[in-house]
Amino acid sequence: MAHLSPLVRQATPVLAARGEGVYLYDDAGRAYLDFTAGIGVTGTGHCHPHVVEAAQRQVATLIHGQFTTVMHKPLLTLVERLGEVLPPGLDSVFFANSGSEAVEAAMRLARQATGRSNVIVFHGSFHGRTVGAASMTTSGTKFRAGFAPIMGGVTVAPFPYAYRYGWDEATAVRFALRELDYILATISAPRETAAFVIEPVLGEGGYVPAPKAFLEGLRERADAHGIVFVLDEVQTGFGRTGKFWGHQHADIRPDVVVMAKGIASGFPLSAIAASSELMAKAWPGSQGGTYGANAVACAAALATLDVIRDEKLVENSAAMGARLLEGARRIASEHARIGDVRGLGLMVGSEFTRSDGEPDVATAQRAQAAAAERGLLLLLCGTWGQVVRMIPALVVNAKQVDEALAIWAEAV
Ligand code: PLP
Repeated sequence: MAHLSPLVRQATPVLAARGEGVYLYDDAGRAYLDFTAGIGVTGTGHCHPHVVEAAQRQVATLIHGQFTTVMHKPLLTLVERLGEVLPPGLDSVFFANSGSEAVEAAMRLARQATGRSNVIVFHGSFHGRTVGAASMTTSGTKFRAGFAPIMGGVTVAPFPYAYRYGWDEATAVRFALRELDYILATISAPRETAAFVIEPVLGEGGYVPAPKAFLEGLRERADAHGIVFVLDEVQTGFGRTGKFWGHQHADIRPDVVVMAKGIASGFPLSAIAASSELMAKAWPGSQGGTYGANAVACAAALATLDVIRDEKLVENSAAMGARLLEGARRIASEHARIGDVRGLGLMVGSEFTRSDGEPDVATAQRAQAAAAERGLLLLLCGTWGQVVRMIPALVVNAKQVDEALAIWAEAV
């Protein structure tokens, strides 16, 4: 008799039988308010009828058309439609299946384009679990435990995580940029540095928005040294932060955007976008995979883009995110163990801290479990697992936000 490997650690006790909108239902028909959205994947909600219909139609037409062998229409149309939402100048798109693969694609592109080997990432980063992406991931030792050392050529620079440093944001930014300059002058010289890779909001690292001034400082340094500036928008893209892309909260222009999760409402699809000039410096055939740009996933992505536009989900994410953040802050003001509540759009994190200032993982875990018992599904994040995050589908409404907040108030 086979069993599921203990490598899987389930965060909630739910056996999901069905999903609809922001709800999951178990076999007994119990409803759960799903504020995890499959780790930020089902932005349009579970089983949005328009996405379901598009996928069903595509399944009956062409399931798989391997893109190094034949081209298919859902892929070509998706490239066109992404062109309507991508930042100006990023007009060349390459597809893969998962966030990790897309991060690796970006890293390979930056290395090939610059002829340099090093990549600079930032403390608390999560870029995935494949060997290359895991080597760029620093949001917890578990992502490398037992099999490090892995890929070399990655240097980790400070991220301006003001709350944990106990500083104001401006001080944290000044510190992080000075440290970065020091790293560029000592450990990872510009002539060896292919890319900066950063999340606009640290995701697994604890829902810490990258300050605008920090992203702008990185852009300046990337320009000064010919370093490729890669924005990992795997968790923050497709309206999650209340703008279409997370980096649009700052005044910057990325060289590469990495996308996955919210792109196709739950079908495995990811991509990178860059300028044609940059993409032309990579070697044709050096990247790719059997399942990349699967036709059904592309059809689902097209329907996802329709829903985001037609239901004004970016605007809803901003409005509901503000309501959620304000409510979570109100609740935190009555609980000494919640030291900070922060976020952008529908990425809201409550950080638990012990009276001695150390991360309070035990209380965060108990609060998460208490919420699940009451029908609200939440996830932990943060390097130690000390942050409870709320990341509902972008279709969430005010009543559901308030319902979740009422459960959260009881759970904490
Ligand atoms: N990058 C970011 C910012 C992520 O949040 C994740 C996953 O959580 C990844 C990359 C890796 O994506 P995947 O799990 O699809 O490989």
